[in-house]
Amino acid sequence: MHWYPDIIKEWFSGLFSGYLWHGSRNDKVVYITFDDGPHPVVTPYVLQELERYDFKATFFCIGDCVQRHTDIYDLLSIKGHSVGNHTFHHLNSWKTTTTSYLEDVDLANSVINSPLFRPPYGRITPKTAKNLRVQGYKIVLWDVLSGDFDKDRTAASCLSNLKKNTRNGSIIVFHDSEKAFEKLKVILPDYFRFLKSEGYETAVIKHTALTE
Ligand SMILES: [Zn+2]
Repeated sequence: MHWYPDIIKEWFSGLFSGYLWHGSRNDKVVYITFDDGPHPVVTPYVLQELERYDFKATFFCIGDCVQRHTDIYDLLSIKGHSVGNHTFHHLNSWKTTTTSYLEDVDLANSVINSPLFRPPYGRITPKTAKNLRVQGYKIVLWDVLSGDFDKDRTAASCLSNLKKNTRNGSIIVFHDSEKAFEKLKVILPDYFRFLKSEGYETAVIKHTALTE
């Protein structure tokens, strides 16, 4: 929602209470997240960059990718990162019945097993969201979108947007996916250096650690 003025953003936050958009604005901590992995090439690259800065991240994984790349998936926890559910087939909640969607989340849960959930495309119907919350899921959105997947944006434009909008408690979205990789290789080292030089620390998203 980073492109909306603050007043609209606050209104949205109120409207969609129960969704996690960001962490505490009081501490110099940011929450780096990666969606759509694990990927056999991109995820190891991301892990290496994170390790270089001693940063921790939260990976919202697609169940189907977890099943195909179990060894990479296992590395995430081994390296001290956190994982979340991003459905099994990367479904769009607006185009899927609640029943089918919940079944797909459940299927992903059989290989991911995390109470954190991020809806693909950032889209989720109120009915589906309510069902997931009743099941104990915490729905995690974001306040800074990197644009790493966007073919119409340059790496420089993504970087300036990232640096301009990052603040205490920000939840930042990247993608450890094929379509983001070229841009990621330019963005990540530069952005991580920026975070370090600005004195930000990183933390993984935990089920109960953040306020809504
Ligand atoms: Zn996704």
